[in-house]
Amino acid sequence: MMRGSTFQTDAMKSVRFVDGELIPVGKILCLGRNYPEHAKEMNAEVPSAPVVFMKPSTAIVEEGGSVMIPPISTDVHHEVELVIVIGPGGRNISAARAMEHVAGYAVGLDMTLRDVQADAKRKGLPWTVAKGFDTSAPLSGAVRRAAVGDPHALTLELRVNGTLRQRASTSSMLVRVPEIVAYCSTIFTLETGDLIFTGTPEGVGRVVHGDRLEALIAGVGSLTVGVV
Ligand code: MG
Repeated sequence: MMRGSTFQTDAMKSVRFVDGELIPVGKILCLGRNYPEHAKEMNAEVPSAPVVFMKPSTAIVEEGGSVMIPPISTDVHHEVELVIVIGPGGRNISAARAMEHVAGYAVGLDMTLRDVQADAKRKGLPWTVAKGFDTSAPLSGAVRRAAVGDPHALTLELRVNGTLRQRASTSSMLVRVPEIVAYCSTIFTLETGDLIFTGTPEGVGRVVHGDRLEALIAGVGSLTVGVV
């Protein structure tokens, strides 16, 4: 038998709505550089079209779980993000009808191996490893779209061991929720349970073994995970 082959064999990941409904997680799409101040801190240009990358569903960590730093990295960063949960699927969805495809929202962390990502950027290689490793996508419970109201009037917060590291409003998003859904659906057919991480604001930084991460979007949810 291969060593380690028994790790989490029940790997089906779900989005858990606060009203109790469970939806299996489909694909996870993520936007990069969707807040101008974060693009600036990364010395990156604000893109003319959305930067999209993916994580596998196996990257999901639920509330109370742990982010495991893989041995290939010594520089893991937190990125707190508003996550769109897709309800009814579709392709080539118009921005005008996009909200009909949004089931709700959750709080997510786009955990990033910054050293691995920097190396990939330098070499012109994909971000798959830097962004998609096991435990790279901690996810809170989800709330229904109707309970949230305007998704561009929310405050994102991230604390590490109780110290505030990120705090910003979703009003600073460059590409907004309807346009994000519409754009992604021109490339990928969207299906029920797909998630879209909408990008992080400024203030990203390193986490280390033993840290406790608390992500909060008032009106959406909260999420606490450890780092091992
Ligand atoms: Mg991100």
